[in-house]
Amino acid sequence: MTLLDVQPIRATFQGDLFTPETSGYDAACRIWNASVTKRPALIARCSGLVDIIAAIDFARENGLLTAVRGGGHNVGGRALCDDGIVIDLSRMRAVHVDPAQRTVRVQGGATLGDLDRETHAFGLAVPCGIVPKTGIGGLTLGGGVGWLVRKYGMTIDNLLSCQIVTADGKVLTASPSENEDLFWALRGGGGNFGVVASFEFQAHPVLTVLGGLLLYPRAAAVDVIRHFRGYMASAPDELTAYTALLHGPDGAPLVGVIPCYCGEIVEGQRILEPLRTFGNPVADTIQALPFPAMQALLAPSFPDGNHNYWKSTLQRELSDDAIDVVVEHANRMQSPLSAVVLEYYAGAAGRVAGDATAFPHRALPWGIYFIAQWTDPAETVTHRDWARAGEERLIPFSSNAHLLSALDVEPEDVICTAFGANLARLTAVKTQYDATNFFRVNYNIRPALTKAALA
Ligand SMILES: Cc1cc2nc3c(=O)[nH]c(=O)nc-3n(C[C@H](O)[C@H](O)[C@H](O)COP(=O)(O)OP(=O)(O)OC[C@H]3O[C@@H](n4cnc5c(N)ncnc54)[C@H](O)[C@@H]3O)c2cc1C
Repeated sequence: MTLLDVQPIRATFQGDLFTPETSGYDAACRIWNASVTKRPALIARCSGLVDIIAAIDFARENGLLTAVRGGGHNVGGRALCDDGIVIDLSRMRAVHVDPAQRTVRVQGGATLGDLDRETHAFGLAVPCGIVPKTGIGGLTLGGGVGWLVRKYGMTIDNLLSCQIVTADGKVLTASPSENEDLFWALRGGGGNFGVVASFEFQAHPVLTVLGGLLLYPRAAAVDVIRHFRGYMASAPDELTAYTALLHGPDGAPLVGVIPCYCGEIVEGQRILEPLRTFGNPVADTIQALPFPAMQALLAPSFPDGNHNYWKSTLQRELSDDAIDVVVEHANRMQSPLSAVVLEYYAGAAGRVAGDATAFPHRALPWGIYFIAQWTDPAETVTHRDWARAGEERLIPFSSNAHLLSALDVEPEDVICTAFGANLARLTAVKTQYDATNFFRVNYNIRPALTKAALA
């Protein structure tokens, strides 16, 4: 562990500083995934923009490896680093809604729950992910998919501007009219370009949705998923739905369908009829819900402090053979906390050009996620290997593409598949804004070699 003199930053920093000797350090090192046990030399929990600048300057002057923590939900533990500094934004969670313009300004450490709570007061919502404790920072920079993805697009499709602090401590605005290349790169290029102090989003009128769970015995899984696939092919954009192979609270293996309809409720009842009358569900909890309640529906399945490992793939199609493989592999899962989730996007998200933002995979609407979750660290190899084998078995059907923010710890070539055809332009933007690769505890894009990098 590096012994660090933190006096110089203490003089100006207004937030909280944690070193291994400070009380609260252990709690400040904990993130959602208990498998991540990194020990930074300093955690700088910022109170605002000026603290972010101070932390970046201190890190640069001391040659410290630098991680950025938003909501701490990155499965690969990219919110933390060993020995270096963590720029921790978890105190910066303010959300300000402008109901007249339907815009929202969100600080870089806010969670989805923080955002939904404030927008809901005005009957508005911003498309984001499906678990309230996830950070808006990492989710947005990775693209962002959730219950409104088919109607209003990905989170990045609703991003209006960012206020960002770059590696040299400069504060920039990135928007369609300022630093346009940087704005393009921030929409899917991960945390490579600086610390985003705040995001500005377009919000949409969403107050009450029709949603819930349809559950069937696992034996019905192949039929349920095939029906789901056919049904979604002609579903309206107002409906986003996922299907999952999971276990009930009593340990029974199940297959579930989770729809969220964000249009008129009466019309939604009609639209959901074919889904709800298919087969013999053992439970149907679909009802009109305030949008934040829909957002909280799956939160109990992702508690803090369990061990987690993810593998995933984006696919153009979901063939019968692929469904058979997914179901067969799900039936081999050893932990009742694990799941396989099949997400279908398309809709508004699929109508954006692959080079309009840094997220390239608009034509790959199926996201298949092998989510291993367990409590006993001694079982790590078993559950990790199950997730790995699932992804490997899908290789014959896969497009060799990934959703950036779903990637666990992976080699560089796998991470590059998430950037796809946009990698060259992202490398150019990285080189312009972070030539020394100061921000590298992330899904890293290496800058091209420049004099600045070699100095
Ligand atoms: C339970 C769970 C559910 C999820 N559901 C969804 C979902 O529905 N849809 C979806 O798209 N994704 C989902 N994800 C994936 C999620 O988007 C990523 O895990 C993302 O990294 C979480 O963001 P965070 O701020 O919490 O991450 P952190 O772990 O805090 O940060 C991860 C990385 O993001 C970058 N970062 C974060 N904030 C900033 C910032 N303000 N400025 C610059 N860089 C920053 C940094 O590079 C950092 O290393 C889910 C994850 C979990 C664990």
